[in-house]
Amino acid sequence: MNLIRDFCIIAHIDHGKSTLADRFLELTGTVEKRKMRAQLLDQMDLEQEKGITIKLAPVRMLYKGYTLNLIDTPGHVDFTYEVSRSLAAVEGAILLVDATQGVQAQTLGNLYLALEQNLTIIPVINKIDLPAADVERAKREIIQLVGCAPEEILAVSGKTGEGVETLLQAVIDRVPPPRGSAEAPLRALIFDSRFDDYRGVIASVRIVDGSIARRQKIHLLGTGVRTEAEEVGVYSPGLTPQESLATGMIGYVATGIKDIAQVRVGDTITTDKITGVAQLPGYYEVKPMVFAGIFPKEGNEYSALRESMEKLKLNDAALQFEPEHSQALGFGFRAGFLGLLHLEITQERLRREYDMDVIVTVPSVAYRVTTARNEALIIKGPHELPDPSHIKHTEEPWMSVDIITPVEYVGGIMQLTADRRGRYRTTEYLSVGQRAILRYDIPLAALIVDFYDALKSASAGYASLNYELKGYETTDIVRLDILVADRPVEELATIVWRDAAYAAGKRIVETLKDTLPRQQFVIKIQAAVGGKIIAADRVASFRKDVTAKLYGGDVTRKNKLLDKQKKGKKRMRASGTVDIPPEAYLAVLKKKD
Ligand code: GDP
Ligand code: MG
Repeated sequence: MNLIRDFCIIAHIDHGKSTLADRFLELTGTVEKRKMRAQLLDQMDLEQEKGITIKLAPVRMLYKGYTLNLIDTPGHVDFTYEVSRSLAAVEGAILLVDATQGVQAQTLGNLYLALEQNLTIIPVINKIDLPAADVERAKREIIQLVGCAPEEILAVSGKTGEGVETLLQAVIDRVPPPRGSAEAPLRALIFDSRFDDYRGVIASVRIVDGSIARRQKIHLLGTGVRTEAEEVGVYSPGLTPQESLATGMIGYVATGIKDIAQVRVGDTITTDKITGVAQLPGYYEVKPMVFAGIFPKEGNEYSALRESMEKLKLNDAALQFEPEHSQALGFGFRAGFLGLLHLEITQERLRREYDMDVIVTVPSVAYRVTTARNEALIIKGPHELPDPSHIKHTEEPWMSVDIITPVEYVGGIMQLTADRRGRYRTTEYLSVGQRAILRYDIPLAALIVDFYDALKSASAGYASLNYELKGYETTDIVRLDILVADRPVEELATIVWRDAAYAAGKRIVETLKDTLPRQQFVIKIQAAVGGKIIAADRVASFRKDVTAKLYGGDVTRKNKLLDKQKKGKKRMRASGTVDIPPEAYLAVLKKKD
C-alpha cells in the first residue's frame, strides 16, 4: 500500500487537465507513443470534438515501482458531481491553474470540494510555455487562495512536458498512501458506473478495505444485491483484467447485473458472507436543476426517442425524465438536467449517438408550491402550476454565485447582477488592484437564461462563474400563456415572475409576429396571465395570387378561382387553425429575456 498513490486533477475548464494526463500516460509508458492522441482520456466523440471532459476518467499508471491511480475530472460547473465523486476516491489533488488565465471561478469551486474531503493539494501552474503566461501573478493568486508557501507551487507545461516529471515525483512524495486495512473485510466504494452490452453494469471502484478477486461473491450493501464479480481489473486506460484488486486500488468490477439502478453510485461493495460491515458514507443524490420538454422533431419518433433516452440514462444517472404530451408537439418527455450545458450535451448526444432530432422547450427551474390544502408540490413546468386560487405559497431556488473578474469590469457586472435580481454579498481580491471575487445570491431562474453570455460580454470574456444551490426562497410567479388565433399554444407557455410577465409577454408576441408565416386571414397573437390579455398583436393576411398560374385568356376561369379562394378564406377563418411551423417555436424558445 505504501507504493500506491491515488490522486486526481482538478481545475477550471480548459486549464489543461486532460492534456497533463496525456503527458502522465506517456511518461509512465501507460500508452505507447504511437497510440497517443490529444486528450486521450476524453473517450466520448463529443468530448473530443468539443474539447471538454464530461465524464470522470480513471487510469492506472506504473512508475518507478509505484502504482499511480489518477482520475481526470471535468471542469464545468454542471459536472461538479463527477468531480466530488472522484475526490471521495483519492487522497490527493493536483490543482491546475492556467498561467495565462490565473485562478478562475471553478478553480475556486473545485478547490473547496477538495478541501472538504481533506485532500492533499498540490498547486500547479500550467501552460508556462505560452508567451502570455504570467507565472508570478498566478502564484500570488494561488497563495492567496490556498495559503501555501511559494515553493510548494510547481510550474509545468502539459504541452511541452516541461516540469511534468517533477510533478509526478511530487505526487509520490506529497500525497499520502491510501489509508485502509488490508486485513479488514472488503469495502469498495462505487464512484461511477456504466452499462456495457456484454458485461452488464461495470462499476468503477476504490478499494477502501480488504481486496476483491475475480469470481468472488459480492454483496452491495445499499441495494442489497448479491452477485458475482465476473471480472475485476484496472483502467490502463482500457479495461485490463486482473486476478484481484488490493486495498487502495482504483479499478473496475464487472457485475453482470443488467439493471443499472441496482448498482448505485455511492454504494459499498462487500463480500457475500460477512455481515455487520459498515456502509461507506457514499454521496448525496444529485438533483436536476433545470427542466425542459423534449419532443421528437418527427412526431412518429416518440418510441425511438424513449429508447434513446433510456439508453443515455444508463450512463448518465443525473438525467431524469417522464412522459409529457403536447397538442402541437405530440408525445415527448419532461426531462431534468444538472444545468444548461448538461441539457445541450444531452441534446447533442441524442442527435449524434441516436440520430434523434429533438425540439427542446423553454427551460424552467423547479418551483416548490404549497397548495391551499397544504400539499407540497414540485413544479417542473408551466402545465403543472396549479390555479392561483389553489396556491398558498411558492418558492424558487437561489444559487450562491462566485464571479472572478478583472477589476475594471466590476461596475458592469454589478449592473448585470442587479438587473438579474442578484443580491450582493461580498468582494474579495485575488490580487490587489487586478482581479476580484464577487459573491452574490441569484435566483436560478435568472441564471438559466443568458446570464453566462451576458457576463462574458460585460467582461470582454474575462469573467468566470461558479455556482451552487443555496436554498429556496419565497417568490411570486405566474403562468404566461400565449394564444395564437384565440387558441392557447401549450408549448409556448412559461412560468415567469409576476412583475416580469408584461415584458416577457410582449417579447414573445413580437417574436411570433416576425416569424409566423402570413395566412389568408389575420392571425391574432396574444399573451395572457390568468385569462387576462397583457400583450397583443396581429399578423396581417396576404392575398395569395391564385391566378398566377393562369396564362392570359379566359376571364371566367379567373373569377371562378377567386370565388373559390373567398370561400376557402371564410372556412379557414371559421376554424381559425394556424399551423405554427417549428421555426416559429424555435425563434421564441431561443430568444432569451
Ligand atoms: P481541460 O478542460 O482542463 O481538460 O483542458 P484540456 O487538456 O482539454 O486543454 C485545454 C486546451 O489547452 C487545449 O487546447 C490544450 O491543447 C491546451 N493546453 C493544455 N495544456 C497546455 C500547455 O501546457 N500549453 C499550451 N500552450 N496549451 C495547453
Ligand atoms: Mg479535460
